[in-house]
Amino acid sequence: MDDVIEKLIALNDIDAMLKDAESEEYRSLGFETKEECIEKLKKMREEIASSIPRQVVKRYEKLRRKYGRGIAPVVNSVCTNCFMQFPTEVASRTDKNQKVEFCPNCGIIIYWT
Ligand SMILES: [Zn+2]
Repeated sequence: MDDVIEKLIALNDIDAMLKDAESEEYRSLGFETKEECIEKLKKMREEIASSIPRQVVKRYEKLRRKYGRGIAPVVNSVCTNCFMQFPTEVASRTDKNQKVEFCPNCGIIIYWT
């Protein structure tokens, strides 16, 4: 899988964790305080984001504001953000996950599972 796609998936995971950690109900596991957890996650996020091309991060952030996430998996040839079905000739390509791609319907960054 393309390096940038892997990093975008990690970024998406961290954003989900941050959202959790910042929620009212969140209880920190182990000995760390909620603030320490958030601090660590933000630092990780910064490190990953800085290693992704800027225009890709920009697009990711724009999508995140619009949909609540910037990247979505394609499962069984269906975009899990907008539920558009990809044509068989696209879904059966052998060069999937080799570069950053976007859903032609909703514009979200996609990766193939
Ligand atoms: Zn879509």
